Amino acid sequence: MPPKVSSMSEEPNYKVDLVGVFGHPVSENPTVLMIESAFRELGLNWRYVNFEVLPQDLEAAVAGLRAMNFKGINLTIPHKVEVLQYLDEIAPDAKLMGAVNTVRREGDRLIGENTDGKGFLRSIQEDAGIDPAGKRIVFLGAGGAARAMTVEMALAGAENIIIVNRSAERGESLVQLLNDQAPAEAQFVPWDQTFSIPEGTDVLVNSTSIGLYPNVDDRPDVDYDSITSSMVACDVIPNPPNTPFLQEAEKRGAKTLDGLGMLVGQGAIGLKMWTGHDAPVSVMRKALEEVFG
Ligand code: NDP
Repeated sequence: MPPKVSSMSEEPNYKVDLVGVFGHPVSENPTVLMIESAFRELGLNWRYVNFEVLPQDLEAAVAGLRAMNFKGINLTIPHKVEVLQYLDEIAPDAKLMGAVNTVRREGDRLIGENTDGKGFLRSIQEDAGIDPAGKRIVFLGAGGAARAMTVEMALAGAENIIIVNRSAERGESLVQLLNDQAPAEAQFVPWDQTFSIPEGTDVLVNSTSIGLYPNVDDRPDVDYDSITSSMVACDVIPNPPNTPFLQEAEKRGAKTLDGLGMLVGQGAIGLKMWTGHDAPVSVMRKALEEVFG
């Protein structure tokens, strides 16, 4: 006799609803701990599983989702772009970004969403108390995370977005996307020397991978003395959360926002899409803090 696994009702319920993540590699992806802590807190009979899916197997893996009635899935490297062709519908912001990190199910239809930027939006609004509308925002980086975050900032009414990036091609292509297809004014600045934060900047975001474990002492090449106490400095790096970039900004009196808030925010939005339940964000953050210290 299998154990009773649902705490939601007095009746035994041996049916489990499945979600998870497709990626390669995924063995060290800690999202599972965050989402499963939420399932336990909510008493939901759901499981989140890390699936190692090779690029050539993605189509079959998505067919497997349909066949086994998964309620949804997350996508991580290297599947966020390739998956678009196997889905029935793509949400407008995910279409703009050209990337999907969350799939939800509506009946038989699989719908692609991108919650990375929405997670950042939620974190900046709820954790830092900042409304992006009318703000002047500087992004260091123009990769996948920056794409998602800048599109959501533009859709939330940011007045001006400056993209500072090492590769001009990536930086210019993101600026073109924002200027042509999103309601924001954007400029590209090549990152070929120490970058000085322009006066009047409201929000400064490190959206590069600089500072990510194991390179925990690395920090973006900016003139830290150009950061002022009127700015909010945000980092996407979840591990470790208290990066040298944030420490330098804090020393200059800036308000800081770590990458755990974004990670929890995107997970909370995905969980609501899948289960319909409001996510227990403090429980989810605690689960990640136990991993990242
Ligand atoms: P990408 O590989 O798509 O982009 C990396 C970006 O970092 C590029 O702009 C790249 O510049 C820049 N970069 C990397 N190293 C350097 C360097 N030494 N000097 C200057 N620029 C550099 O990665 P993602 O955008 O997907 O991810 C970026 C980070 O965001 C990762 O650390 C990831 O863990 C984190 N992340 C956090 C999330 C959260 O919820 N907190 C969610 C998603 C991502 P170039 O174009 O010149 O190569």
